[in-house]
Amino acid sequence: MSLKTLLGSFRLGARSALAALAAAGIAIGLSVASTPAFADAGFQRWVQQFRSTAAQSGISGSTFDRAFQGVTAPDPEVLERARYQPEFVAPVWDYFDNRVNDNSVGVGRQMLRQHDRLLGQIEQRLGVDRHILLAIWSMESNYGEVLKNDRVMRNVVRSLSTLAYADERRQRFGRQQLIAALKILERGDIDVRHLTGSWAGAMGHTQFIPTSYQEWAVDFDGDGRRDIWNSIPDALASAANLLRANGWRSGHAWGYEVRLPEGRKFPAGTMSLAEWQRIGVVRTNGQGYPRPNDRAELKVLDGREGPAFLVLHNFNMLKRYNNADRYALAVGLLADQIAGQGQLARDWNRPFTRLSFNETQELQQHLLTRGYYDGNIDGKIGPASRDAIKAFQSRMGMQADGHPSKEVLTRIRGQ
Ligand code: CA
Repeated sequence: MSLKTLLGSFRLGARSALAALAAAGIAIGLSVASTPAFADAGFQRWVQQFRSTAAQSGISGSTFDRAFQGVTAPDPEVLERARYQPEFVAPVWDYFDNRVNDNSVGVGRQMLRQHDRLLGQIEQRLGVDRHILLAIWSMESNYGEVLKNDRVMRNVVRSLSTLAYADERRQRFGRQQLIAALKILERGDIDVRHLTGSWAGAMGHTQFIPTSYQEWAVDFDGDGRRDIWNSIPDALASAANLLRANGWRSGHAWGYEVRLPEGRKFPAGTMSLAEWQRIGVVRTNGQGYPRPNDRAELKVLDGREGPAFLVLHNFNMLKRYNNADRYALAVGLLADQIAGQGQLARDWNRPFTRLSFNETQELQQHLLTRGYYDGNIDGKIGPASRDAIKAFQSRMGMQADGHPSKEVLTRIRGQ
């Protein structure tokens, strides 16, 4: 099907047609989105139209022109990321192993010592526990490491205008965030060259989107600029401020790992910790509940064979940062381990023996050397690592489950 036919048959504007192409996964020779001759003219017209929208929101012409200097076409990689639909949700153990591991805990403890004074000041002024802030920092940007990766960090104005212009599902999001990003430039918190972020416009150590930045970013180091890209005090205090503003309860736990009594069903919804205790849901470490009247909800993410948790008010505050149970639980567990608690009493229901972070990197290195893998040696098992493991397993006549197991590592070491 030609693009012309497609445009005609859908009776859509160029932007919608692009989105339709993307949605249908239709490849017509060259990727349409990255064909500048087609994209440029439309995009540049769109930018000119958006200039007046921005002016209505108080963006000066000079800020606008500075922001769009050199931004002449949509970013094809942003569109590729925007249309990416994972074939399946990562298994729960992959999610947690990638985020709560000996490396993220170890670096977290290092940062705990390194930023002791700052973390104390933030606790005092904003009331959010230091371990929680470190865990968020780890989850969002790997303690700032991601910001050094030029393959990940992109021009925020270009990313957001790409979404606003060419991604049908995120048009509104893109426009709204773009206005907020231009306001950041207008105010002078950061210059345009350093206004970088993820493909979806998440920025700095704490990965705030521009509207979150507008609402919650703070200048904690007192230099007059809210710099979540380069100032660790500003970034961590901004994360604390988001939690505090949404109702974080200072000094309260996020939740507890619990043991479930055999052979009974559990009520959905919340009950007091005392009531949970009464029906036999107790902490795995044998301690009592410090605030028995607080209301808690049971979370079981990995079936009856996996770990179980009672989660409290602050768990839901973590979900304000990222609205997923997995996310909030990973922050809570990582914070607990950075604070010195041991690993889970009941491990994830992982059908293989877990590798350490270094072993996972070693496995990726072997896969790379042998031509199965061309991604980063980052100790994180994503779709590319899983596919590489599967390919290796098939080649060896093993069951191709894609799991980063001891068995696979042992086997590949011997190759
Ligand atoms: Ca500052």
